[in-house]
Amino acid sequence: MTTPNTPAPRLRFAPSPTGYLHVGGARTALFNWLWARKTGGTFLLRIEDTDKARSTDESTRAIFEGLTWLGLDWDEEVVFQGANLERHRRDADRLLASGYAYRDFTTAEELDRLRKDAEARGETFTFDRRLAELHPDELERRLERGDPYTIRFRVPEGTTEWHDLVHGRIAFPNKDIDDFIVLRSDRTPIYNHAVVSDDIAMGITLVMRGDDHISNTPKQILLYEALGEPIPDFAHIPMIHGMDGKKLSKRRGAVAVGDYQHMGILPSAMRNFLALLGWSPGDDVEVMSQAEMITRFSGEGLLKKAAVFDLKKLEWMNGQHMMLTPIAELEAYLRPFVLQAGLATEAQLTERHSWWLQLLELLRVRARTVTDLVRQAQPYFADALTYDEAAVAKHWKDAPATAGHLDSVATTLETTEWDATAMETALRTLAEARGIGTGKLFQPLRVALTGMAESPGIFDVLVLLGRDTSLGRIRAAVNRLGGVP
Ligand code: GLU
Repeated sequence: MTTPNTPAPRLRFAPSPTGYLHVGGARTALFNWLWARKTGGTFLLRIEDTDKARSTDESTRAIFEGLTWLGLDWDEEVVFQGANLERHRRDADRLLASGYAYRDFTTAEELDRLRKDAEARGETFTFDRRLAELHPDELERRLERGDPYTIRFRVPEGTTEWHDLVHGRIAFPNKDIDDFIVLRSDRTPIYNHAVVSDDIAMGITLVMRGDDHISNTPKQILLYEALGEPIPDFAHIPMIHGMDGKKLSKRRGAVAVGDYQHMGILPSAMRNFLALLGWSPGDDVEVMSQAEMITRFSGEGLLKKAAVFDLKKLEWMNGQHMMLTPIAELEAYLRPFVLQAGLATEAQLTERHSWWLQLLELLRVRARTVTDLVRQAQPYFADALTYDEAAVAKHWKDAPATAGHLDSVATTLETTEWDATAMETALRTLAEARGIGTGKLFQPLRVALTGMAESPGIFDVLVLLGRDTSLGRIRAAVNRLGGVP
């Protein structure tokens, strides 16, 4: 678990564009990015689009958008793996020429039959390279005839090992590694070969990725050795599990970064939350700005154990970041959500800018997400109020008494200066005069003003709503309750 001392490492995130940007992928991208930013290294993006049937432009776009939303900028031109096919082929041919690989004319049908035979015997199929051995004349004949062949890697004897930056020494006996295919018979590369060929071409010095790739690494190291190229460092970071201990999956909740964006999570909170999935700064500090994360990020803090994705913690983290974000920045981020919810127009928000910022200051204290905040902001914009049924049932239980209380509130406020302190004094005096606790007055009033059981301090609410709207809503509540008895 040591940080390598390569002066300026080159790292990459290499997603396959076959869906949305998964939170696990985003976390891997973030770790690579943090490492690069911390060390003055380079963070590259490679889209692994060799699987033409499953890769789509739409998911490539989703990857760009997700990374951009998270603020993970990449340093050079995006590399599209599919564009490197000729090099992949050349590298495979180099392996062939140097004897590290060989041609295998075994047909798919034959391989299938051999696999089935092995299974029937209760064995796992391994490719016996003698199957591919041909007399030179026969080889020539087949080549001339244009018979299709795959290029297989000739796995040498011995052990393949590396010092993983997370796991320490990992070793695989080569006898457990099959002579794997490098190039298929249609001359397309298999994953391990394309990755190594591209990582070499991109000058990658540290490969950091999910530990589900550990079993690929010995094959990749063998390829580096055979191609005569320096082997990069490897860091295999832990998987992310759900609260149930199982792999995160769509069935058990949102796994796309975009879903959290739409849920109203701030990018800074998402980044902070993801950073703690498989990394610990080594103390109890959890809430960190981007700059702090970069300063504190290190290989020593990478963890081996699977990380747990706890939505409650993400929401808590988001609440923390809503408080930390400068109000103008928060407002700019929120604006599209407010517009989309139809609460106000752009012009209205601009016109009442300082009022709107004041409201945000009050609401952000209790809101967990941006969408939650927008929901809570609704009563301050709406002409007609919608009453939350539970709030009504709870705080307007005794209709005649409540109507009486609210009517007296309206009468009192009509002659009170529209100032939080003045209104507070007046209403406390009123509660005393009516012989009731302030809660009996303030809670029904809150429902009358906001339709909700929870809101910022009631006097702040009165000030923000203004005199006319407040008195109008209290009168409407009295009517709704059947009037004063
Ligand atoms: N395309 C691979 C994936 O998405 C990349 C693996 C790697 O980083 O080498 O899992």
